[in-house]
Amino acid sequence: MGRIVVLGGAESGVGAAVLAKVKGFDVFLSDNGKLKDDYKALMDNWQIAYEEGGHTPEKVLDADEVVKSPGIPETAPMVRALRDKGIHVISEIEFAARYDTAKKICITGSNGKTTTTSIIYYLLKEAGLNVGLGGNIGKSYALQVATEQHDYYVLEISSFQLDGCYDFRPDIAIITNITPDHLDRYDYNMENYVRSKFRITRNLRPEDCFIFDSDDKITIDHLSKIVLQARMLPMSQTHEVEQGAYLEGQKIVMRVGEDESEIYLSELALGGKHNIYNSMAAALAAKAAGIRNDVIRKSLRTFQPIEHRLEPVLEVKDVLYINDSKATNVDAAWYALDCQHKPVVWIVGGTDKGNDYEVLKPLVKEKVKAIVCLGVDNKKFHEAFEAIVGTDKMVDTLSAEEAVKASAAFAEAGDVVLLSPCCASFDLFTCYEDRGEKFKEAVRNL
Ligand code: ADP
Repeated sequence: MGRIVVLGGAESGVGAAVLAKVKGFDVFLSDNGKLKDDYKALMDNWQIAYEEGGHTPEKVLDADEVVKSPGIPETAPMVRALRDKGIHVISEIEFAARYDTAKKICITGSNGKTTTTSIIYYLLKEAGLNVGLGGNIGKSYALQVATEQHDYYVLEISSFQLDGCYDFRPDIAIITNITPDHLDRYDYNMENYVRSKFRITRNLRPEDCFIFDSDDKITIDHLSKIVLQARMLPMSQTHEVEQGAYLEGQKIVMRVGEDESEIYLSELALGGKHNIYNSMAAALAAKAAGIRNDVIRKSLRTFQPIEHRLEPVLEVKDVLYINDSKATNVDAAWYALDCQHKPVVWIVGGTDKGNDYEVLKPLVKEKVKAIVCLGVDNKKFHEAFEAIVGTDKMVDTLSAEEAVKASAAFAEAGDVVLLSPCCASFDLFTCYEDRGEKFKEAVRNL
């Protein structure tokens, strides 16, 4: 049957290895770092050969095809060696979709992927469908294809996963928006990143749907350059659309085929302008999947907010602390600041991904009274914002605890302390969840 080598043994890699095994391939998994014990146990169970703590070139380079974890960059020596040898490298999504006949609703974009994916999953479940959730979220898609049976999948897909997709075809594809992010992985070239996101549309057929933000200039510019056969369902908060969803006063109007329906903003469980887009995208996807309007409306009303995304933590001395640790880029922080109506003490910083803070300056001027930097290198923040908030209103901290204490010192009754860092978390934390957890703990200890 051939030999499949899986590079990277985390959730997606281990899932792909199990699927390859189930499909009768000779499978080998190789990871540069350490594997988690429960993944090792799973592979032992399935009798899958693996190595950790480094790649043995002979064992990897004799693959017929390689499934690469999205976390491993093109510049990694092993990936370069595979390219030199002309070995086909794909993502877990591409691999799993070959064996999956379920209908697939797939979400990519710079921001709002997890939120939109979670709403759609909830909507489909509420509608009583047999649906799996996967991609960048929850359990590996490939593992589910190997061991479960679903009629629908809702898949959150990052640009890194799309880079390893070739024949993959969603039935409903969504690009939530495109703003600069991860440019370090795209040679600091925005066009490369945009093309990567649009790979989600490359195999769409006329009967498939494409849902996108028609207020997003980058998306619209790119759409004008390509030919897409799919049914187009745009969403907008600024203009009416013939098909798709748009804002009319305080309500969302949705037009899909002959059907027109309305949802009042006051009914949406999630607040903020960005969540209007996310709710529109989810409602359109559900509608395109044939779900009834009353189920869509009810689900948008009862959806529970998710952790680390504008999550209210606690009020201490009349100051509200908000955890938006997932805001790892400038656009996400823009929306977080935009929906604040009280003076903000803003906690920012971390690993910079080639950010430009210019667009945040008007919001900082209007809403931010002090800035607490939580990162190893805060130079760019000082350069961008010191002149706006004042040198005495900016401090540097190196732990969540220190940052929360410094914020509490700046804040007065009626203010908001907002952790919305614009940056990745890897300089001081293991991941954004770790940053969010430590922030919440520090707030509870105040
Ligand atoms: P992703 O999975 O794409 O990273 P999330 O839903 O996890 O997106 O949200 C990431 C961050 O972006 C959060 O801080 C959230 O408040 C913000 N956000 C969510 N949806 C949007 C959107 N449509 N536009 C801009 N920012 C958003």
